[in-house]
Amino acid sequence: MAIIIKTPEEIEILREGGKILAEILAKVAEKVKPGISTWELDQYAYKLIREQDGDPAFLDYRPEGHQKPYPASLCSSVNSEIVHGIPKRGIILKEGDIISIDLGIKHKGLFTDHAMTVGVGTISKRDQALMDDTREALEIGIWAARGGATTGDIGHAIESFVHKRYGIVRELSGHGVGKKIHEDPYIPNYGKAGRGAKLVPGMVVAIEPMLTQGNPNIYVADDGYTVKTIDGGRAAHFEHTILITEGDAEILTKI
Ligand code: MG
Repeated sequence: MAIIIKTPEEIEILREGGKILAEILAKVAEKVKPGISTWELDQYAYKLIREQDGDPAFLDYRPEGHQKPYPASLCSSVNSEIVHGIPKRGIILKEGDIISIDLGIKHKGLFTDHAMTVGVGTISKRDQALMDDTREALEIGIWAARGGATTGDIGHAIESFVHKRYGIVRELSGHGVGKKIHEDPYIPNYGKAGRGAKLVPGMVVAIEPMLTQGNPNIYVADDGYTVKTIDGGRAAHFEHTILITEGDAEILTKI
């Protein structure tokens, strides 16, 4: 599959969609508090997307190799869950939890993707540091993502910043986005400078480091989707959809 360069018209739609998505995810994040279920967060996200005449990108999406389509709009991954946690009525957030909320929307036919980890009530200093550092890893990845650089430069920048303070999940990566929710190129959160696909202005990609406090190895829960750390350690995940330019990338999923 070839890398798709977006036209100026498509970029304008992605800019609009990214802003809508950022506003929606910020509202969902504000709802995170002790006592709320992940199902309620999902219902709220769905309602907000529909109010903007958008479509949830993940609902009924069937990734390659999956039998069952994904059953919700939001991915809600709590504590040792890294990504793709399925919202459930029975998952009630507690003080001190951390939750990663990941949302994709389709706006006027084009997709954007955005995620963040949020603390529930008061959280530990260690968890706050994990979240802050994962957010910074994303910022550093975005800084490295400029026209003429490569996907390996992004992974290398993130890996150098993390430098063994955390585990980096290796099985999951950033990706092109726009016409589909997952497009080429794939963008690992580790790598060697100068390797991988070349970044060209007009490419739109999602960068999404996933860091763990312990072992970064993963397994998939019995529900077929929820990705968890093998040792039960906590994980954080931040993601932006960005436009590659000649200079600093433009963050599309921002308010
Ligand atoms: Mg993504």
